[in-house]
Amino acid sequence: MVIDKSGQWWRGEDLTDLAEFVRAFRANGYKVDRVLESVCAQCDGRAFRVEADDDEGAARRTCTGCGTASFIADSAEYWDDADHGECACPCGGMEFAVAVGYALRDNGDIRWISVGLRCIADGTLGVYADWKIDYSPALDLPA
Ligand SMILES: [Zn+2]
Ligand SMILES: [Zn+2]
Repeated sequence: MVIDKSGQWWRGEDLTDLAEFVRAFRANGYKVDRVLESVCAQCDGRAFRVEADDDEGAARRTCTGCGTASFIADSAEYWDDADHGECACPCGGMEFAVAVGYALRDNGDIRWISVGLRCIADGTLGVYADWKIDYSPALDLPA
């Protein structure tokens, strides 16, 4: 437990802190059952620039190491309708570690997605987008 709550923003040092923040955030009030870190499929990178639309509920991450872009969860289906902007930390940083929180229904289907970001520059934690999953089956959506 090394989250610094003393300032205006929560700050963390690693994935454990970010996961803890995503669980504590409880997007839409739902208990977060699972948190997965986003990892670049091409180069194993864990730092990303992130575009998101919190109204539509969609997010895409682009690896800062190799430039590979990847949609989070089911965002590809909603991307064309989304009004996405690039996520920026209050400090101005635009490079993040990403952890996706999954709230599940009783039957194991995913009910709610939340996208947690940890600023690489100063460690500030935030949930930048969250959205509902309202179809079934929804068992496996990528982080
Ligand atoms: Zn990469
Ligand atoms: Zn920052």
